[in-house]
Amino acid sequence: MKVTGTLINYYFHCKRQCWLLGNRLNLEDNSEDVHIGRAIHEIKKDESKNTEISIENVKIDKITDDYLIEIKKSDADIEAAKWQIILYLKILKDKGIEKKGKLQVIENNKEDKKTFVIELNDKLELELTNIENQICDLINLDTPPSPDLKKGCKKCAYYEYCYV
Ligand code: SF4
Repeated sequence: MKVTGTLINYYFHCKRQCWLLGNRLNLEDNSEDVHIGRAIHEIKKDESKNTEISIENVKIDKITDDYLIEIKKSDADIEAAKWQIILYLKILKDKGIEKKGKLQVIENNKEDKKTFVIELNDKLELELTNIENQICDLINLDTPPSPDLKKGCKKCAYYEYCYV
């Protein structure tokens, strides 16, 4: 199966959420392929301009000559956001578009800005493949992992399914 950016994000956020989406218990608009296709079209149309794109629930705020940039308002789930960017960098690379990733965290009411630069390399690509395999193994389980109440559950599309 094809691992999407949303699946990889959910894998780091909550294994149950990842299983539910992977098994098509989809309570959300899952149109990532369309968004990725549109994003690639935009990039190819005008490589030199900053382009604001949205690939489902991760906002790719800008594409510049060198970077695919995402800006987040909190550093919650940074790992999930990083791996989602790594997946998108790989998808772009496979389409012949080589970019670096930049994840910027600008918290509300704070001057501090954290920036993470992500450069695709052989090691990351290998780790990505391993994570994709782990996600496939998880999704192939007959039953989902048990709910694990955590910060973010109340905003999750599966909240009622898990707890009500
Ligand atoms: S509500 Fe919580 S436990 Fe259930 S899928 Fe969502 S994040 Fe996971």
